Amino acid sequence: MTAEIINGKELSTELKLEMKEEVEKLKELGLTPHLTVVLVGENPASKSYVKGKEKAAAETGISSSLIELSASTSEAELLQLIQELNEDKTVHGILVQLPLPEQIREEKVIETIHPNKDVDGFHPISIGKMMTGEDTFLPCTPYGIITMLKSKDIEIEGKHAVIIGRSNIVGKPIGQLLLNENATVTYCHSRTKNLQEIASNADILIAAIGRAHAITAEYVKEGAVVIDVGINRLENGSLTGDVDFENAKEKASYITPVPRGVGPMTITMLLKNTIKAAKGLSKIEG
Ligand code: NAD
Repeated sequence: MTAEIINGKELSTELKLEMKEEVEKLKELGLTPHLTVVLVGENPASKSYVKGKEKAAAETGISSSLIELSASTSEAELLQLIQELNEDKTVHGILVQLPLPEQIREEKVIETIHPNKDVDGFHPISIGKMMTGEDTFLPCTPYGIITMLKSKDIEIEGKHAVIIGRSNIVGKPIGQLLLNENATVTYCHSRTKNLQEIASNADILIAAIGRAHAITAEYVKEGAVVIDVGINRLENGSLTGDVDFENAKEKASYITPVPRGVGPMTITMLLKNTIKAAKGLSKIEG
């Protein structure tokens, strides 16, 4: 079997076109969704992520602004800024780019963002609602993965989903979302024994580790759906995933590539969340 590729770049383009139309309609109603991104320090990867977010927002007509703060910003200063953004009626979504300098506690920052403006979906209230299946902002990468599966009408109910990685931003929430869709979920992590045996039983295998090509074809069951979240930079500068794509694709039924896989979907779902925030705060239905 050679897998069908789920191209996140193409799907993102389609979704952004749909969002552009929606934003145009909202603008006619006098509402321009606005995302404010806060960047603290000079981390080059963070700078490039932020640029990507601004560019994608502009493509859909969402307005965005970037607040850049020095690496020596104190926690109190950042929390004060977030409070001001919480109260600013022209700001619908607030995103503080992670990681933050060590003098600032990430959890304090996340908890200070108003849950109605939490477009990253990291606030404990958003996470709690996601767990109980209530309507809320879903964290962007897991939301993107679910959207990719649904775009191909891949059955989730009753399937065995194995998640490799248990971070708060990817592994844990994607497992919860798949559980909400009635999958049977197994979480694996760095302390898991018999990882290959467990992974090779998965109908849906999600790799979110951060180790290039750690998941070889031996970890993939014939016909499995393989989602590669990993972004790893090789010595030659190119990006690659956690999955040995070339060999795994010969066994999988569907597979996501890196690049052009989950990455573009993450940004796209941030835009979806920003529109949702704008409509929610303005009490526009639909
Ligand atoms: P993390 O470092 O917070 O978590 C990695 C997880 O992998 C941990 O739970 C750890 O237990 C597990 N792990 C580590 N070594 C393992 C091993 N040998 N066997 C099994 N499990 C192991 O990382 P993260 O933030 O969840 O990100 C994971 C990867 O996904 C990274 O490459 C990151 O760059 C990428 N990522 C991509 C997107 C995207 O939009 N595509 C978004 C977020 C993260």
